[in-house]
Amino acid sequence: MIPARSFNGRKVALFGLGGSGIATAHALVEGGAYVTAWDDNPESVAKARDEGLPVGDLAQADWAGFASFVLSPGVPLTHPKPHWTVDLARGAGVEVIGDIELFSRERAARAPDAPFIGVTGTNGKSTTTALIAHILQSSGRDTQMGGNIGRAVMTLDQPAPDRFYVVECSSYQIDLAPSINPNAGILLNLTPDHLDRHGTMQHYAEVKERMLAGSDAAIVGVDDAYCAQIADRLERVGKDVVRVSKRLPLTDGYFADGTDLMEAVHGQYSRVGFLEGIGSLRGQHNAQNALAAVAACLKIGLDLGEIQSGLESFPGLAHRMEQVARRDRVLFINDSKATNADASAPALSSFQNIYWIAGGLAKDGGIETLRSFFPRIAKAYLIGEAAPAFSATLGGAVPYEISGTLSAAVEHAAAEAAGDEARESVVLLSPACASFDQFRNFEIRGDAFREAVMALDGIEAIGGRR
Ligand code: ADP
Repeated sequence: MIPARSFNGRKVALFGLGGSGIATAHALVEGGAYVTAWDDNPESVAKARDEGLPVGDLAQADWAGFASFVLSPGVPLTHPKPHWTVDLARGAGVEVIGDIELFSRERAARAPDAPFIGVTGTNGKSTTTALIAHILQSSGRDTQMGGNIGRAVMTLDQPAPDRFYVVECSSYQIDLAPSINPNAGILLNLTPDHLDRHGTMQHYAEVKERMLAGSDAAIVGVDDAYCAQIADRLERVGKDVVRVSKRLPLTDGYFADGTDLMEAVHGQYSRVGFLEGIGSLRGQHNAQNALAAVAACLKIGLDLGEIQSGLESFPGLAHRMEQVARRDRVLFINDSKATNADASAPALSSFQNIYWIAGGLAKDGGIETLRSFFPRIAKAYLIGEAAPAFSATLGGAVPYEISGTLSAAVEHAAAEAAGDEARESVVLLSPACASFDQFRNFEIRGDAFREAVMALDGIEAIGGRR
């Protein structure tokens, strides 16, 4: 745990007692702050009280006495409207911050040289964060990984000069971290998402840009117009900007040429790494993630040998185009994280001869946007509530069956893929749907897929899952 000593002796209000809120409250108490913690859910308050945290109704509190207000990133700061606690804090002139701000202040106070990489973007944040942490760890560095990816940042080990931090930052967390200052800040991409919580695309982009503005080096994926503009704007104000592209040969920066990772310096190209044969980093989207990781690792002093060796041993993340198993020429891929059509596009574009398991609880728009990938699909196996709607879109373009359940879909897809003459065929769970109709969340759905696959005869697990 990182005790929040910069709050020693100060009164701090805290709202939001989920996992990260409770961890942050403990860090504040440990650092000597006088905390008043609260949540709208009485069960969460009771749980915090049971853990010995000082709880108190913030609606009744004297806000003028608080030095700071720590808000959980899941609670609305701006959109659709500020939470009532935010209004009270603002009314009393109390700063509103989050756990990554606490981390940034502790690092600044105790070990400002501790290397810190912040990762944000609409897609690929967790993969890139995990990849960088893996490269660092496998090169022997003392590595701490946290933030949006899992471990609350204040539960990490305390800042020390040779301790490396890789922190995944959601927009909500950046919005609450005014002094965030990574050595390398990565913005992978920006597409409209979470606009319910950010209002407009412009506001969403502004929040993301803020992390880069605080970074020593800003690493920006310039394949979308929003990010390209951000890179230009930061460069104009003198920021060290490193551009990354999964498809364009840049004059300066890092780009992918097929599976080769290239560096461009004033139009001169050299190969700095490669992804050929690395199953966990297939697909153009992963080239973007890998290029950003390479750029960040070089910025903080790793050498190319260390980076390439980390890329090659990266096990990938569970449920994101995760290689589960193989049986002869058939590969089994778990992409359960793909909970809408857009999220299924990277997996569908990364394989051929696909035996596609899709469906669940459909979201607006269905799978029409995936039509350009239909020629890659040998057959679709439809499950859950979305099956009738998906079958209507597939129509005469793709053979399909309504399998009903995931286990039936796995069984049928595996049997039919086994008869495919292609050099490699793929049984792919990439549902393009939320899971709630048949499974509690995408992790449980992915685990069920894995179990059904592992129950097949003659199956060979592909290891390395974390
Ligand atoms: P996040 O943490 O931002 O939600 P993840 O790394 O968990 O992202 O990846 C989630 C899904 O997003 C992956 O399964 C893949 O389909 C897609 N994805 C990953 N990286 C990218 C990228 N760079 N660009 C677009 N889509 C991506």
